[in-house]
This record gives sequence, structure tokens and C-alpha cells, in this order.
Amino acid sequence: MSAVDTATNFWGLSETHLEIREHARGVARQFVAPRAHDIDANGEFPQDIREIFMEQGLFGLPFSEEYGGTGTGALALIMAIEEISKVCATSGLLLAVQELGSLPIKLAGTDAQKDAWLPRLASGEWLAAYGLTEPESGSDSAGMRTTAVRDGDEYVLNGGKRFITNAGVADVYVVFAKTQQDVGHKGISAFIVPADAPGFSVGKFEKKMGIKGSTTGELFFDDCRIPAENILGDEGTGFTLAMQVLDRSRPGVAAQGLGIAGGAIEYAGKYLLEREQFGKPIAHQQGLQWMLADMETRTSAARELLYRAGHMIDAGSEVPQPTLTRYSAMAKLICTDVAMDVTTDAVQLLGGYGYIQEYPVERMMRDAKITQIYEGTNQVQRLVIARNLLEELKRTEPIPF
Ligand SMILES: Cc1cc2nc3c(=O)[nH]c(=O)nc-3n(C[C@H](O)[C@H](O)[C@H](O)COP(=O)(O)OP(=O)(O)OC[C@H]3O[C@@H](n4cnc5c(N)ncnc54)[C@H](O)[C@@H]3O)c2cc1C
Repeated sequence: MSAVDTATNFWGLSETHLEIREHARGVARQFVAPRAHDIDANGEFPQDIREIFMEQGLFGLPFSEEYGGTGTGALALIMAIEEISKVCATSGLLLAVQELGSLPIKLAGTDAQKDAWLPRLASGEWLAAYGLTEPESGSDSAGMRTTAVRDGDEYVLNGGKRFITNAGVADVYVVFAKTQQDVGHKGISAFIVPADAPGFSVGKFEKKMGIKGSTTGELFFDDCRIPAENILGDEGTGFTLAMQVLDRSRPGVAAQGLGIAGGAIEYAGKYLLEREQFGKPIAHQQGLQWMLADMETRTSAARELLYRAGHMIDAGSEVPQPTLTRYSAMAKLICTDVAMDVTTDAVQLLGGYGYIQEYPVERMMRDAKITQIYEGTNQVQRLVIARNLLEELKRTEPIPF
């Protein structure tokens, strides 16, 4: 049991939370860790890990019992993503993206849509993807160009998406498109696009620095026809939905970053105890101890913020939307910046061996980088946090100095 585990009561974790963490940790160490190096080296989507997650019920974590899920909430999912990502960030992303792609249906879907799509996502039989980014619109998602035009009882989609996780392996794509031009983000709507929709195709797959087993690809819509009933919510509500989704999904990326940092600390710390130079373990060197202390302290501080964000998602409407927005962005920002710093230091602690692919900290450092970029870059997180804080300050009475 680690120091982190002994402090669990401070987070208000239930028995269920603890059981889920133990279960995810067991799956991570027994099945995922032995595969992590090869998943990275071969860059192939880890179908075997997906099947293990199905067998072990991990895909049920993002879903309520009504739809075949565990009904255990956001914090439990965050803890599972953290445990899996400690050993393999690609595999942690399997869970995080299942949540990302399903959230629009959970938040805005009709009962019929939920009945149709969620049970097979909860079992893992289907995988989900979230299509927001386009070549010309990344951080500025309101600038998207993909269009959706109503034609009788269908919508016809034209355009394309880029950098979409699970491209080619997903069965269900939630796609954002403009149903009205010249009204900015108010013209955006969200749609469920099944992988076999006519006119839908997947383009090239990107070769990446890290998370190499995860597919990242282009989506094309060429007069792609979907039933009109596949719209999520009303026309024009898609941008608001996309932002509501990100408030609840960014903690998943934060958990991925936190897990990578935790895995790097564990590996580098043990290395310090075993590696000898100048006749004694390098763990005796105070300069390295200080590095390790900073790595652990910053990771633990980041975990506090992330678990707080998880509690807030689980508290539902008790937490005002702006508060959730800020905590979610702050958790994403700190956990992923910590992931990059900690993994860079872990490479340094291993010296030359840290730079060699045989040692997992090299992979962890490459994997950490993407967590600072996707689901809103960390510059965008800072914009979100600052705007949110400034709005609050406009409404509060000044301190009477
Ligand atoms: C591996 C991978 C997986 C991904 N998965 C998905 C997915 O599943 N679904 C999806 O929709 N998207 C996905 N993305 C896209 C990702 O979310 C975008 O790449 C990201 O939001 C940034 O957009 P961009 O790449 O166009 O960069 P840009 O928006 O062009 O940004 C370039 C730089 O400018 C900075 N910048 C931009 N605007 C501002 C501003 N106002 N203030 C300060 N700085 C600013 C950015 O922080 C960045 O440093 C993925 C990307 C990658 C690489």
C-alpha cells in the first residue's frame, strides 16, 4: 500500500471507489503493463486490451446501471484511468475516449437515443469517438466548416474532421457541424454518425510522437446521410453541448496525465534505489532526492485538484456550471503540466538509460506531451480559467482595503 492509499479517507472515497481502484490497478499490472512496450513500439491499436477491458467490465465505468454500466460515477472512472495510464497511456485513453464520445449522448440524447447507443458502448462492444476538430478549426472550434443540411427526414453532412481519436475503430462518431452559417457558434449542432453511414469515410492516420497505439485520423463526410432523429438536442445547441462535454471529459485527460506522472515516479524511484554509482545507490544523493520529492509533491497536489473536480461532476446540479468549468480546466492544466515535468525529470534521473527505449520513462515522456495539447491546449485552459475568474470578480464586492 502506497502513501497515497493511506490518505484515501481525506478524499471521501467510498468502498466502491476503493474496490474499483484496486480492480483497475490489478488489470493494469496483470494484463496491460506487460503489453505497454509493444503497443508503443508497434503502434497498433490494442484490440487485445480492449477485449480485456470488456471482460473485466471497465467500459461500464462511464455509464449508469440503467444502460448496463456500473453507475459508479466520474471519480471512479478518473481513478481507473489514472491506474491504467500509470502503465500505458494508450490503454488509459481507451476509457477516456469512451467517456468523451458518449457524453454528448448522455447529456443531450433522447431516451430513444440513449437506449439505442449506450448499452453497447457500456459493454465495449462499440467504441465511441468525438469529432470536433477540423484542419482550419482547432482551438477556435466555432470556426468549423463542416455543414449539415436538413433534407426531409435526413441530414446531409459535408466536410471533414482531423485528429480524431478512435478514427477507424469507432462504431459511433459524435460529429459537430454547422446547420446555420454566419451566426458563429450558435449555428453548430451535434449529430450521431454511425460508422456505416453512407458518405462517411476515414482518411489518413497520423504518425505520432506518443500514444502510438491509439488511432488518430481524418473523417470525411461526402453527402453523408444520417436520419434526422440522429441530431442531439435542438439545432444550434451543439457548441454549448461540446463545452458541457469538455467540462466533464477534461478530468479524464487530467487522469491520464496524472497516471503517467505516477508511473514515472514509481519507476524512477525504484531505479534510484537500485542503481549504484560512487559505491552506493544513487538514491543517497540529496540532489536526486530533492528532485523526487518535488515530483511526488506536485503530483499529489495535482491529484487533490483532480479528485475535487471528480467529486464536483458526481455532485451534478449541486455544483454551479462555472465552478465545474474552472475546476475541470484547472485539473487538466495542472495534472498535464505536472505529467510533462515529472516524466522529463524521470528521464533525467535514469541518466542515459532514461533516453533508451528499453526503459519505460522514455515512452512516458513522449506520451505525456499530448495531454497538454488535446481536449483544449493548456493555453486554452488558462484562457478558460482566467475568463471564468474575471467574470466572478466582476460580480463580487471589492475587499474594503
Ligand atoms: C493525438 C491527438 C488526438 C486528438 N483527438 C481529438 C479527438 O478525439 N477529437 C477532436 O475533436 N480533436 C482531437 N484532437 C485535436 C486537438 O484537440 C487539437 O489539436 C487542439 O485542440 C489544438 O488545436 P490545433 O491543433 O488546431 O492548434 P491551434 O488551435 O492551431 O493552436 C496552435 C497554438 O496556438 C495556441 N493558441 C491558439 N489559440 C490561442 C489563444 N486564443 N490564446 C493563446 N494561445 C492560443 C495553442 O495553444 C497552440 O499552442 C486531437 C489531437 C491530437 C494531436
